[in-house]
Amino acid sequence: MDKVLTTCVYCGCGCGLFLHVEDGRIVGVSPSPMHPMSKGRLCIKGWLAGDFVSHPDRLKFPMVRREDRFARVSWDEAISIIKRKFREISDKSGPDSLGVLTSAKGTNEENYLLAKLARAGLKTNNVDHVARLCHAPTVVGLGYAFGSGAMTNPISSLAHADVILIVGSNTAEQHPLVASYILEAKANGAKLIVADPRKVQLADLADLHLKPKPGSDVAWINAFLNVIIQDGLINERFIIERTEGFEAVKQSVSVYTPELAESISGVNAQDLRKAAIIFGSAERCAIVYAMGITQHIAGTDNVQALANLSLATGNIGLDGTGLYPLRGHQNVQGSCDMGALPEFYPGYQKVSDAREKFQQAWGTDLPDRPGLTALEMMAAAENGNLKGLLVVGENPVISFPDTYRIKNALNLLDFLMVMDIFPTETTELADVVLPCASFAEKNGTFTSTERRVQRVRSAVAPPGEAKEEWRVINELICQLGIASCYSGPEEIMAEIASVTPIYGGIDYGRLDVNGIHWPCPDRNHDGTPILHNERFPINRARFRPVEYIDPYELINDDYPLILTTGRSLYHFHTGTMTRRTSLLDREVPVPFVEINSDDALAMGIRNGQRIIVETRRGQLFLDARITADISEGTIFVPFHFTEAPANVLTNWALDSQSKISELKVSAARIRRPEDDRFSG
Ligand code: SF4
Repeated sequence: MDKVLTTCVYCGCGCGLFLHVEDGRIVGVSPSPMHPMSKGRLCIKGWLAGDFVSHPDRLKFPMVRREDRFARVSWDEAISIIKRKFREISDKSGPDSLGVLTSAKGTNEENYLLAKLARAGLKTNNVDHVARLCHAPTVVGLGYAFGSGAMTNPISSLAHADVILIVGSNTAEQHPLVASYILEAKANGAKLIVADPRKVQLADLADLHLKPKPGSDVAWINAFLNVIIQDGLINERFIIERTEGFEAVKQSVSVYTPELAESISGVNAQDLRKAAIIFGSAERCAIVYAMGITQHIAGTDNVQALANLSLATGNIGLDGTGLYPLRGHQNVQGSCDMGALPEFYPGYQKVSDAREKFQQAWGTDLPDRPGLTALEMMAAAENGNLKGLLVVGENPVISFPDTYRIKNALNLLDFLMVMDIFPTETTELADVVLPCASFAEKNGTFTSTERRVQRVRSAVAPPGEAKEEWRVINELICQLGIASCYSGPEEIMAEIASVTPIYGGIDYGRLDVNGIHWPCPDRNHDGTPILHNERFPINRARFRPVEYIDPYELINDDYPLILTTGRSLYHFHTGTMTRRTSLLDREVPVPFVEINSDDALAMGIRNGQRIIVETRRGQLFLDARITADISEGTIFVPFHFTEAPANVLTNWALDSQSKISELKVSAARIRRPEDDRFSG
């Protein structure tokens, strides 16, 4: 049996694991004891990460839609159809009528090439990926505040915090290895404050559990900071020496008393005061957050409010301090780093600043205006301005908000090409479907949520005629007339390093078992586990006042409940891989809705009863899970299930700064099917 060291395919923790290979098949997985973060541990998804690879549903051959059926074609024919359609659309409607959605499940090398395909090959900056719907507010918010929109410290640094504030993150279920370091800190005597409308697992161990209403975060975080300022718990020296704009924030938060925050957010004013004093009095405080903070129309303001809190207390740049935005996909950090964003080239070099540099590097003219974000592309498809779309390893029909609207937008395209490893609800709508290699069948790198660039290694061959994406993308780039000839992912990484200062010192030979934290500007540099310890990239960090705004949809008599969505421990994203992993699917086999027990009693709903959940956009039939662990007036639906896709219910309203949609708040109502019968 061979054992191939690689990186887990699921969450952004980036655990190291071995794939066990016998007779060309994966027969098992074991953790890597040498991995510097996971240290011989995996969560249940990691242990089962090899299971889906040989599933019989794998896409094996290129397919083209002919008269409403898919027909198998050769790679040459598929590539020639794609090239012809891209050319036709571009000639007729201009290059900005094309777009590319890349994959946070893909490697850095694939994302780099896809962004190059969009910009150099198709001549459009319409390139984006799923980070738009998870951590775009982090890129924008922390980018403004610190000059770098990424996690400031390594995961292990959490073990050295005196206080950890977890906001909008079900860490134990979504990032189990991060939770292990939080537990270590707790065992060392750290205080834990959890802010979440659900009693997530870590709330059981918390010293305080604050339960803000979804969408109310700016109000309670501003009040939290106000208490710290009023009680003289700020770090004046840090503020004076390393920041700017504090006075404006001090003034703006002064009106947010704990009592005002309670009236907006429902967080008990006394608890809020207590939590703020615990945080403000401690030496080293860390803030962990995830999509409970970002998926709002105020997502960027929420992130800035947390940045204000860190800066005011000087909790940046040291072990045990910092901000920890937890990335959901294994390579969502790397996809952002590689410039799979409409406004940035690789390494967050702005399209407006670095165009000349990339024109020289890629030997061709590049478009000058930033492109459309993911949902802007969907809106452009609706109004006829976007006509051709390439989707790689992404399933927007299930993962984007307002499913029916997304389906309609994709159906309006003249040409949709999808590359994936399994058939999905999005491949069903495609004109051309290309089969790809899974993580176990390719070489490359992923960058974990802690900015650790690490190797992905091929263990088995892809099934049928499926190919590694880099080969296909490279072929497309060449077909579009751009000189692009790589011998493999290692050579692509060499090009990435040559044009991306934060990856300047990354090469495969140096990554070995430990990987390297970017920024790593040259080959003599060991990487940077902790950011901002001496200076910020923008010299002084920036405070910015943020004011509370209501969520886009407010509850009313017709829709009296707040619907929030999220994930389960046993599933990942749209379920394409975990629902084809029998042991994971067995744990949570059916979709459900969590309802507060008092609400359920008032509505006459029993545990396990099939009920209808409705919003202004659609309805789902779901099994009721009655629990005291969710706040009254709030319901929760996981979004992994194609038979009841939660995004049928969610809304598309965008944060004006980061263009994320407000997936975490929709006004909803519940009905019992038997009530329909009685009412005729
Ligand atoms: Fe994989 Fe994340 Fe689990 Fe680690 S914590 S094994 S990276 S899913």
